Amino acid sequence: MVTGKIARISGPVITAGGMKGSRMYDVVNVGGEALRGEIIRLEGDFAVIQVYEDTTGLRVGETVENTGRPLSVELGPGLLASIYDGVQRPLPILKEKSGNFIARGISVPGLDRAKKWEFVPAVKEGDALTGGDIIGTVKEFNFEHRILVPPDRAGTVTEIKSGGFTVEETVCVLDGNSPLTLMHVWPVRIPRPIRKKLDPVLPLITGQRVFDCIFPVVKGGTAMIPGGFGTGKTVSEQTLAKWSDTQIVVYIGCGERGNEMTDVLAEFPELVDPRTNLPLIERTILIANTSNMPVAAREASIYTGITIAEYFRDMGCDVALMADSTSRWGEALREVSGRLEEMPGEEGYPAYLATRLSAFYERAGRVVCNGAGERTGSVTVVGAVSPPGGDFSEPITQNTLRVVGTFWALDSSLAYRRHFPSVNWIKSYSLYLDSVGEWYDENVAPDIRDLREKTMYLLQKEVELQEIVQLVGPDALPEGEKAILDITRMIREDFLQQSAYSDTDSFCPLEKQYLMLKAILTYYTGISEALDRGVALKQLLALPVKAEIGRMKEIGSTDDLKKLIDGIGPACAALGAE
Ligand code: ADP
Ligand code: MG
Repeated sequence: MVTGKIARISGPVITAGGMKGSRMYDVVNVGGEALRGEIIRLEGDFAVIQVYEDTTGLRVGETVENTGRPLSVELGPGLLASIYDGVQRPLPILKEKSGNFIARGISVPGLDRAKKWEFVPAVKEGDALTGGDIIGTVKEFNFEHRILVPPDRAGTVTEIKSGGFTVEETVCVLDGNSPLTLMHVWPVRIPRPIRKKLDPVLPLITGQRVFDCIFPVVKGGTAMIPGGFGTGKTVSEQTLAKWSDTQIVVYIGCGERGNEMTDVLAEFPELVDPRTNLPLIERTILIANTSNMPVAAREASIYTGITIAEYFRDMGCDVALMADSTSRWGEALREVSGRLEEMPGEEGYPAYLATRLSAFYERAGRVVCNGAGERTGSVTVVGAVSPPGGDFSEPITQNTLRVVGTFWALDSSLAYRRHFPSVNWIKSYSLYLDSVGEWYDENVAPDIRDLREKTMYLLQKEVELQEIVQLVGPDALPEGEKAILDITRMIREDFLQQSAYSDTDSFCPLEKQYLMLKAILTYYTGISEALDRGVALKQLLALPVKAEIGRMKEIGSTDDLKKLIDGIGPACAALGAE
């Protein structure tokens, strides 16, 4: 084992001498308290190390011990419903050991060592296995946790057991006396291998109208949520974590205020998945590295999170990963880079910011998993970005923009007007519209794409018309154009706005989303035709159906919505010219 001595300390970054024989990204124990760190640069005998714990009080000359292992996570039963820090230490156990202020140098394994899991084997002696094959399952809550041959292992089964085991006990032996346990470890900075990437063609359904119907993201795709302070990034990420139709959710609270994470911790155990009626926490892994926790662990937290996400993907699951906020991650990178005295790039961020960001988002995808069979799985990544002052021209926003498929631009002026989600419909976009078109046609309705296009057309038209109104007043507009302004107000208020706190509306099933949009546009068609016959707009806007459309969010039954839609055309048609 390589053991050196601290030569220099600069905040979370230390330099140690006598480290010859070390490799990049080896994990080291620093000083008498054995603070955990990771080698991020090697220069001759010297290793530069980022330390995941507070380095106050460390002294030059204290020892640094190389563990010889890269920074890794433990993967196996016990992950679900866990709450970890950035390097996979379970926060509840840290708290038990040291109270609210986490003491330093505490080493706690990511997975419970004592708990026994009932293992049901799925292979038999003589079977030839490769990395990614499923050797059996254990039940974790209601989830069938598939036990995988680690990606870097293979062999013929010489022994297979069944019954209750801890994560460290051998459940299967491959030839050459190679034992497999319920857990394995994987280095966080190395993407887990896959067989092949697939085109992402299935939408991630979130129950949020502006996302699902207007700017969709796909399973295995990437999205970003940039927005200034208070625009709703955290609420959006949490909403997605609650309602996305995936089997697993990894939620990373990265460098944001501690009380937001406390909210998540308090709220999640109470929530029930609308699709399965199971507690949402049972499909969720929370990683919390809040602003008061060490900065280097924040850098690591997104890798810890995505490696766990990939592990569940490898079982054949759809996984959604939320990171709030990647800007704080970028700032951690910048701080460490500054300590390394690297040449700063734009706004002080290191020159490799763009590469790191794209390498992270690259780990999203819909794939054929490693191992036998045609198992498919996906990791969808949604990163919040908090540009200082809400200025989207800054480096994290710009570099993320280049690599993600969906851009949900949150808007301070909408948030100020309490239009939530404050997604700006002019600036936002989704590059996945064509890929998911077919799925929507088949699974929702053949005219849904058409409705979306009409909606976008009207919203764009609204911008033009508002300019005219500002110049010459509303009376100058012809009736048909005034009608557009009424319809777009309905689109905004009765469709796009969706409160995360509403009991009836925080989650909106896709079919209902479609019917709501259809109702508004049917009304628009009805109005347009009646206007052509000389009916006055005033009369059309006074129709009771308009008020009924305004109450759609509260309508629970799709039959009632369909009835409403069926009544719109006749109501408009019944009006005659004045
Ligand atoms: P950010 O993370 O961007 O700073 P938050 O997500 O904390 O902002 O949102 C700020 C406030 O905006 C919330 O406390 C809430 O009152 C309101 N808000 C945001 N999104 C929604 C939403 N979808 N529905 C209702 N209120 C929302
Ligand atoms: Mg926030």
